[in-house]
Amino acid sequence: MLNTRQMKMILNMPKAENHIHIEGSIPWELALELGQKNHVPLPADTTEGIREWVQSILKKDGLNGFMLCDRTINSVCLHEEDYEAVVMALAKNAASQNVIYQELHLDYPLNEERGIPMEVVMEGYRSAQKKAKALYGVEIVYIAGLDRTLSSEQCVRFVRSLEKYRDMVDGLGMDCEEKGHPCIKHKESYALAKDMGLFLTAHAGEDDGAYNIWDAIRELKVTRIDHGCRCLDDAVLMKYLKDNEILCAMCPTSNLWTGAAGSYEEHPAVDMMRAGIPISISSDDPPYMVDLVQEYALALEKMHFTEDELIQTARNAFLYSIKGQKYLPVFDQWASGFIDNKCNKSH
Ligand SMILES: [Zn+2]
Repeated sequence: MLNTRQMKMILNMPKAENHIHIEGSIPWELALELGQKNHVPLPADTTEGIREWVQSILKKDGLNGFMLCDRTINSVCLHEEDYEAVVMALAKNAASQNVIYQELHLDYPLNEERGIPMEVVMEGYRSAQKKAKALYGVEIVYIAGLDRTLSSEQCVRFVRSLEKYRDMVDGLGMDCEEKGHPCIKHKESYALAKDMGLFLTAHAGEDDGAYNIWDAIRELKVTRIDHGCRCLDDAVLMKYLKDNEILCAMCPTSNLWTGAAGSYEEHPAVDMMRAGIPISISSDDPPYMVDLVQEYALALEKMHFTEDELIQTARNAFLYSIKGQKYLPVFDQWASGFIDNKCNKSH
């Protein structure tokens, strides 16, 4: 159990989050509201009912089951204001956790398959990006996410269509099952995104081996890895990640859930950090898992992080972010106040 001082530390710390997916993070209360408004039925009409439904699907079908839940819950969004409402809810939630900077992955093809025009989704997200800063003091940076299981042509089309939204989208990422969908499949999308000046990241080393992290670095030219758990299998790769300061944006609870880690105690984050690899901690898809405050609490409570290591990890989320380095002085001021306070109390 964490003591009150530690919980206070986690809550008060200004935080950044590098890895969270909009479509997987729609709060279930809001999904129920939108479903009712738009006459889109969901498998249950209470959040408890949704939880039971989600748990039964996940138990049966793992990561594939997650994609079904994700699609079903996201299907309540039909109009620009619905997409705006979702991101505003995420920003409000972020503000309540003292998250001041958040990098959100957005997935348009998931909406395209229901016939929703791109501008409906993107303008909703754009509007929320502006309002979130003004209303909640949360800076939102978007990373367009490719579903790697889609065809390379569809992904290239998606990347091309981002040209129109360059003012609001800063990065390109890639998620979903790694097995059977090698990085090389999406080399053209990444080359295009690089030419457009987008920041490049990819989920790798989550449900497949270290070789996929190498491929993301060598073939796709990414400068960040999402997850990266399996790098521990390859000492040369670990050294490369360290020497080149490639951030691994990790999501421990999500990793437990997909089987990328056996337990919190065995999660590779702390070993990677102690080997000098920059890591940060994020919540991935919080309604299914836990929020960022809880992830940080679990890092201290179960994952063997010391307080100083957690502070370093939280700082990395700003330092290796796309646009959040300007908040480092705010973070450092908080950290020095916290450390002074700790020293005074122990004397
Ligand atoms: Zn993810």
